[in-house]
Amino acid sequence: MEPGMEPYRVKSVEEIPFLTAKERKDAILKADFNPYRMLASNITIDLITDSGFSAMSTKQWSAMMLGDESYAGSASFERYQSAVQDITGYKYVLPAHQGRACEKVLFNALVTEGSVIVNNNHYDSTKTNISLNKGIALDIAMVTDDTADFPGNMDIDKLKKVLEEKGEEIPLVMITVTNNKMRGQPVSMANIKAASYVCKAHGIPFILDGCRFAENSWFIKEREDGYGDMTPREIAKEMFSYADGCMISAKKDANSTMGGVLAMNSEDLYDQCVPYVIATEGHTTYGGLSGRDLEAVAVGLYEVLDESYLRYRRANLKFFEEELISQGVPGVFPAGGHAIYLNANKLCPKIPADEFPGLTFAGLLYIESGVRCLDIGSFSPNASDLIRLAVPRRVYTTEHLKYVARMIARVAEKNKDRETGLTMTRSRTKSAQYKHVTGSFKMKEDM
Ligand SMILES: *Cc1c(COP(=O)(O)O)cnc(C)c1O
Repeated sequence: MEPGMEPYRVKSVEEIPFLTAKERKDAILKADFNPYRMLASNITIDLITDSGFSAMSTKQWSAMMLGDESYAGSASFERYQSAVQDITGYKYVLPAHQGRACEKVLFNALVTEGSVIVNNNHYDSTKTNISLNKGIALDIAMVTDDTADFPGNMDIDKLKKVLEEKGEEIPLVMITVTNNKMRGQPVSMANIKAASYVCKAHGIPFILDGCRFAENSWFIKEREDGYGDMTPREIAKEMFSYADGCMISAKKDANSTMGGVLAMNSEDLYDQCVPYVIATEGHTTYGGLSGRDLEAVAVGLYEVLDESYLRYRRANLKFFEEELISQGVPGVFPAGGHAIYLNANKLCPKIPADEFPGLTFAGLLYIESGVRCLDIGSFSPNASDLIRLAVPRRVYTTEHLKYVARMIARVAEKNKDRETGLTMTRSRTKSAQYKHVTGSFKMKEDM
């Protein structure tokens, strides 16, 4: 099979909107240049996220018809639980409505004032849920660049040092695969294993944030010695085996529109989590999900580890990356598993750093093409201004991605001498992390 060829055919289609340039300009002005505030009905190609936006399969849709909506002990939960146990190897399973709900439950159970949680890199909601419990999130990713085989790795020497110095204050250690904040770059099996041994030696629970566990498994298969002949499912199982439990956003690598998974080996930890699931998600056999959602996750967890799917997923992203490179678009290459990141300050080098070059470029790209993407970084200290093009699973074809790459190259060429960007007129939060989600912006000069 050609690696880039879609291992499925189209059975149902969804029209995408095409607006005129004038309509697009009006739309972005109305949204105050905030991509989150745009109407989806005005977007031609939507690359704002890979979360909850996967195309579901006929098997998932038909399983959803079997959704058992019983309040407790539904057959759908049985199927969800057995899929999670089978794929992760963990005995105790709790559903939650999405990844951050799993975080909330886990941290309510384990984090107290002054607790330090260590991770290669905490995702935004993970960090926030730790601080809402008055804990401290400590990132100890390895400092490498994206040309390494596993740029998402944790710095194991730092882990040893932190556990020796602060062991008492650390209720759990996490590792995030793939490493979202490190641009979706993978973590090696050797790194997961080493972190696991260090945690075991200190008797500290080690939890995998496995939002993109399948994509990480594929990178291990491609890049790490000894894994080339193993199936993604075997690799995933080995990965989970080094941790004491996991949380997974089913909106990512479970190809579902909603759902979360919290699973663990320890009955004691399960008992600690149960009251929080009941208090904020619902009874332990639905956890904020309908029976049909549980069914979609149960099927999706297997589909996402299918070898022909993962080979295609990788090839689809690689194709997009190569299109951009061949048109001379500056980005962070090689890219990770779910998104491509472009350097806004190289795309529009003359826009001052405090005028949001990333958001400006995202706005210009939308006006030109109807493509929605996201700027990240304008608000993070020390972060160079990056634009993220996330690729949802099974949604866009190579023709769509070719169009996006061509439009990006065109907008870059037209705006290489642009000297002004955007100013922020207001934001609904002081939190640097969420400023971009709630901000309003206006052009300094007409675009
Ligand atoms: C998306 C994500 C989460 C949170 O999951 P949601 O389903 O969006 O709440 C947590 N950790 C990582 C690494 C993620 O990418």
